[in-house]
Amino acid sequence: MKFVDEYRNSKEAELFAGAIAKTVTRPWTLMEICGGQTHSIAKYSLQDLLPANITLLHGPGCPVCVTPVEQIDKAIHIAGLANVIFCSFGDMLRVPGSDKDLLAVKSQGGDIRIVYSPMDALKIAIDNPEKEVVFFAIGFETTAPANAMAIFKTKADNIKNLSFLVSQVIVPPAICSILESPKNRVQGFLAAGHVCTIMGYREYEPISKKHNIPIVVTGFEPLDILQGIFMCVKQLEAGRAEVENQYSRSVLKEGNLSAQKIIQEVFHIIPRQWRGIGKIEQSGLGLKDAYASFDAENRFPCKLQSQERSTECISGLVLQGIKKPNDCPAFGKSCTPESPLGATMVSTEGACAAYYRYQLIQS
Ligand code: SF4
Repeated sequence: MKFVDEYRNSKEAELFAGAIAKTVTRPWTLMEICGGQTHSIAKYSLQDLLPANITLLHGPGCPVCVTPVEQIDKAIHIAGLANVIFCSFGDMLRVPGSDKDLLAVKSQGGDIRIVYSPMDALKIAIDNPEKEVVFFAIGFETTAPANAMAIFKTKADNIKNLSFLVSQVIVPPAICSILESPKNRVQGFLAAGHVCTIMGYREYEPISKKHNIPIVVTGFEPLDILQGIFMCVKQLEAGRAEVENQYSRSVLKEGNLSAQKIIQEVFHIIPRQWRGIGKIEQSGLGLKDAYASFDAENRFPCKLQSQERSTECISGLVLQGIKKPNDCPAFGKSCTPESPLGATMVSTEGACAAYYRYQLIQS
């Protein structure tokens, strides 16, 4: 496929792997932020191409994985109400809540619709004026512009029967949280190319400077990732700590200004809970007061006692790079994609699902 195959060329991959091997003189531990990158690493066995002294850890950049159990429980509660059509991306349906998931609500008669865009929810609301329609607005900076646009349009078009259960998070505070943990092992980051396509990468420069750590904005194809690792390792070996852009075919330093404008119109920065990790200050997006009437949490208030169902699941440690999926005793035994105990085994971007699917049994 044009514009894809050239980034999957095995000979080029071997050249990058050879260049990395020649450059490395000591062990380095890197983290790829995004679950899409984790899946490429697993799918193309990229760790096997690297010298043994390069360790890759998998970061928290999977929106399905980090959506807190409290928000899943609220979704389950709202989706079970009479007169509600609940709209969600498909991979949220199997994420475990405190005692069930959205798929169970659907099987019990809840009107849950899988959509591919928040604009689909807008159309459903227009087509069903007698129903309350709720869209589960989750994700990182990548989904924020489309979600913000849908919320903006809902208000502008005076659509009264659509609201949004928001669970938006942003990457830079999560990087800071990982770096400030006493258990941190990460010495260099591969930042998520698609996030930086929206936000640019200026906001990573103070983080790199403060923590003296290389951050390389990196794409998702195998050659992108190998080049990102090479750039990161070159910095580490040279004692440099800068933000560099491997994914220049998509990312500008200033990002997409139109997308940022609509995000800023609708959302403001708030603290957010990250599943398995806990509260990270200033790490989320919440609706501004002008859009509060479209907040499903205001429209359907509920008090729920949320708790994790599985005591075995260590997905919080996996998402922080402290453990790998196959360190979990439940991996591949009591926890599989057919019967997931944690969100990282559910999502197509989850590290546990990637390890299971591509049979990465060794760390
Ligand atoms: S294998 Fe399952 S139980 Fe273990 S960390 Fe991953 S999702 Fe949690």
